[in-house]
Amino acid sequence: MAARAMTDSFGRRIEYLRISVTDKCNLRCVYCMPMEGLPWLKRAELLSYEEIVEIVRVMAALGLQRVRLTGGEPLVRRDLPELVAMIAEVEGIEDIALSTNAVLLAEHADALKTAGLKRVNISLDSLRPERIDAIARRPGSHAKILAGLTAAERAGFEPIKVNTVIMRSQNFDEVDDFAQITRERPWHIRFIEVMPTGANLEISRDDFVSCTEVVARLRRIGDLRPVQGPLGNGPATYYRFEGAAGTVGVITPMSHNYCDRCNRMRLTADGLLRPCLFGDIQTNLRDPLRRGDSLVPLIEETLRIKPERHYLVQGSDVGSGRLVALSQVGG
Ligand code: SAM
Ligand code: SF4
Repeated sequence: MAARAMTDSFGRRIEYLRISVTDKCNLRCVYCMPMEGLPWLKRAELLSYEEIVEIVRVMAALGLQRVRLTGGEPLVRRDLPELVAMIAEVEGIEDIALSTNAVLLAEHADALKTAGLKRVNISLDSLRPERIDAIARRPGSHAKILAGLTAAERAGFEPIKVNTVIMRSQNFDEVDDFAQITRERPWHIRFIEVMPTGANLEISRDDFVSCTEVVARLRRIGDLRPVQGPLGNGPATYYRFEGAAGTVGVITPMSHNYCDRCNRMRLTADGLLRPCLFGDIQTNLRDPLRRGDSLVPLIEETLRIKPERHYLVQGSDVGSGRLVALSQVGG
């Protein structure tokens, strides 16, 4: 049990940290990363696993209970199961999850499970191989992602959540097919509204679909009942079709922001603590940690200035804090 609770100026209890372990990725999703990549962090700039664990330890003593590893693509960082095992040892941490594109998951699923990983979220934007080629822009990824999903099921990860960023011209017409999968498999498929960043303004402007429209489309397929979601920390709203094994969910950062329920902070791969996914506020924890300074006042001050909400505007980078891609901060 955590000794204390981290509460921000708006009374929100913060008990969840999303940790980016790398800014690099083996895919180039059109809504996330430019085709040519980004200026990558240098090795010395990255937090080591020991440094990540030290930050988790300090935050756990303040009330942190849950952690998610993300990126970039977390599985491109070497020996990720070792980090999972190290975090699993930290007193007060009750849940460790992973967000991944699953391209490398088949190789690592069993080791991650053994190390103490509880849950995985897998990004899958289309069920059609040629569309995955067009969206993720690394041909041949579809088969690897499906192998990753199968390996995750076989390793016993539960629940399995699937993230699908919805775009009008690319995959909106697959909502029905995704919904059909939930009738057969116990997956929780969550449709996500595109959030604007520097690299995707055209998509955010021209290809945006509100999840209100997604839910309207789902309702035409069959009897859709609102349900309590699977275990997790997230902002999704879930529904289930009569008799279905899984659920469909929507994540609506643009049409209905859920900032009033925010329970999280983010740690970038180079050690910046961000109280909000968007905006300019970030506190460098890496350098003070390397100097041997106490991190507690820095974490408490970051918590105190956590903004009330994000100020994103569809098709504009005004509210994104000059963020080029979510991969830079661990989306
Ligand atoms: N590489 C891993 C993956 O794709 O799952 C983890 C990092 S990725 C940045 C985390 C999640 O953010 C993915 O589900 C991805 O689809 C989503 N994402 C990335 N850019 C986004 C954007 N601009 N709007 C909405 N979701 C986005
Ligand atoms: Fe990579 Fe994930 Fe961004 Fe796609 S969404 S480019 S898989 S970090």
